[in-house]
Amino acid sequence: MKNYWLIYILLFVISCTPQNDGKVIPPNPPSNSHIEAGKVKPKNIIFMVGDGMGLSQITAGMYMNKNKLNLEKFPVVGLIKCHSSNNLITDSAAGATAFASGIKTYNGAIGIDPDSVAYKTILEEAEENNLATGMVATSTIVHATPASFIAHEKQRGYYENIAADFMDTEIDFFVGGGKKYFDRRETDDRNLIEELREKGYIVSDYFTEELNKSYMSSKLNFAYFTADSDPIPVSKGRGYLYAASKLGIKHLRKHSDKGFFLMIEGSQIDWGGHANDSEYIITEMIDFDRTIGAVFDFAQRDGETLVVVTADHETGGYSIVQPSRMDSLATKFTTTYHTASMVPVFAFGPQAELFSGIYDNTAIYDKFREAFGFKGNGREIIKEVPSQN
Ligand SMILES: [Zn+2]
Repeated sequence: MKNYWLIYILLFVISCTPQNDGKVIPPNPPSNSHIEAGKVKPKNIIFMVGDGMGLSQITAGMYMNKNKLNLEKFPVVGLIKCHSSNNLITDSAAGATAFASGIKTYNGAIGIDPDSVAYKTILEEAEENNLATGMVATSTIVHATPASFIAHEKQRGYYENIAADFMDTEIDFFVGGGKKYFDRRETDDRNLIEELREKGYIVSDYFTEELNKSYMSSKLNFAYFTADSDPIPVSKGRGYLYAASKLGIKHLRKHSDKGFFLMIEGSQIDWGGHANDSEYIITEMIDFDRTIGAVFDFAQRDGETLVVVTADHETGGYSIVQPSRMDSLATKFTTTYHTASMVPVFAFGPQAELFSGIYDNTAIYDKFREAFGFKGNGREIIKEVPSQN
């Protein structure tokens, strides 16, 4: 014990010794209102949702990836409560509506509350504030998570209505599956791909050309369809999440000098959980984490980007049991649906510290607004959704 004290005293003396010709170097850079620690606002927010990504999914991905994940680089970690307005076990629609609009709603609802009142999403508010906006998903782009950032519908299964809701926005960049809901519609004769082009989008798809060969312009919006309906699993050859996310960042940076909001979803971690397929979960988790690494590297270089990674809920009641080794896991499931477990939040960049602690999933919305410096409580009612369909 005595020896430790001696070392402490010695270290203290050394650390207090003036260096640099007698001048003591201040521990922090001079105060400047723009860069004051904790006060600087992010110019950009990149929100990454691992659908169904609970702690066991993360743990399994980590051990099967040589005990390493890019998620480990995030300095701030929190937990969210995921319940919806009508069920302790949320679905992705209610979960994403909580993130996007700050409201608790019923399972299946897209961007509306239990009384069918539509609320402005963080993506729509970012658009109004002249930020560029984008979404990338490994599901269809009309699937519950991306849909809840841009559409307002009573049921998540109204895919064609959700596709039509894209026409009411000015989203600058989106990549995902679901082409058929735009150009081979059953509920009407609209060709939304033509409508997107008329609105000034460059639209392409996997039939025509590879994503990274697509022509893009910093002046025009960009949409790319990766599949007619659901994209295939990464283990069967899907490989665009990483490239599309990097492309999205590049495109959105050029699209507005005010900043951007980008939502990236690793959609199929959830599908592995529903299928009670550990291999599916692990391959999707590692694919998502690889993309997290690229986003993190960008944010680190950029210095003005807040990155938040979380999940809407856990799927499968997944657990890692005996006899497991680091490179070979024995796993069990308790359900083919979601569970009520809290899920982790990881944050990096300006205002990341807002995301520590335990809070409701709706608070993610408030923290995004606070980070961006949007005034007031938000939750702006935009319309009543008619009871048709
Ligand atoms: Zn699910």
